[in-house]
Amino acid sequence: MGYRLISGKEISAAVRDDIAARARAFEAETGVKPGLAVVIVGDDPASRVYVRNKEKGCAEVGFYSEMHALPADTTTETLLQKLEEIKADARIHGILVQLPLPEQIDEQAVIAAIPPEKDVDAFHPENVGHIMIGDYHFLPCTPAGIMKMLAYMEIPVEGKECVIVGRSNIVGKPMAMLLLQANGTVTVCHSRTKNLAEVTRRADILVAAVGKARFITADMVKEGAVVIDVGINRLENGKLAGDVDFEAVCEKTEAITPVPGGVGVMTITMLLENTLKAAEMQVKK
Ligand code: NAP
Repeated sequence: MGYRLISGKEISAAVRDDIAARARAFEAETGVKPGLAVVIVGDDPASRVYVRNKEKGCAEVGFYSEMHALPADTTTETLLQKLEEIKADARIHGILVQLPLPEQIDEQAVIAAIPPEKDVDAFHPENVGHIMIGDYHFLPCTPAGIMKMLAYMEIPVEGKECVIVGRSNIVGKPMAMLLLQANGTVTVCHSRTKNLAEVTRRADILVAAVGKARFITADMVKEGAVVIDVGINRLENGKLAGDVDFEAVCEKTEAITPVPGGVGVMTITMLLENTLKAAEMQVKK
């Protein structure tokens, strides 16, 4: 029995067509293009690629976007000052600061300085709280993209054993919340989890967000499981690999995401959706 490939590329294309059409209608009605500002500090090559892809995504759906690149030795104060300038710009409805930030910067202070209605990453404590109680405007882009992929593939979550490996604030924890809201039975694993393979083998839906190439091996996956690979790891040969050993695992699954072309593309698509939503909330019709 063959597995189904969950193509982020294909699903993104459909969602982006819809976003572009809604953005055109919004602009026709208000005279305003949805606008996104992305701030990047330092020159981490992976972050640069992500930021470039975000700009490309904006262009593709007809948004206004601008990128602010600050040097690696930027202070918290300078970055907060830059955010004040961006906040005052009426063309900007969504603001995103690319993480991780260099060590000297107070990341929590920066996240808290983005107005919740412009916080298209949904990392502000106020937005995190809204997600926790299930009453929100924005969802964090990676988990939201995964929920969209499951819906598109008609994979039900209700009553399913969902296991997430990883408990970061940007992926693991919000993923747990969304699967719980969709009535899954959710287990979150991390580096102190005992007998990890035993836990992951229970999963009907397994989400890997570990940050270690090919960490999830075939013996950790139940026959017929759905496997979602969030990991983006650069191998020594320069190629990208996910957190799942795709070649070994795919035949055991009912459906699986590839890397690249899986969750990463969807993440950017959900950022575009959040930016459009932010513009719709902020601009009077
Ligand atoms: P992170 O903050 O480094 O978190 C990694 C998590 O994995 C932690 O909770 C850690 O546990 C857990 N972990 C580490 N080693 C483990 C082990 N041996 N057994 C079980 N759990 C272990 O990473 P992240 O920001 O969530 O990102 C995870 C991966 O997804 C990375 O490859 C990142 O590049 C990628 N990513 C992709 C997208 C996308 O759009 N596709 C978006 C965001 C991130 P502890 O908490 O105990 O340390």
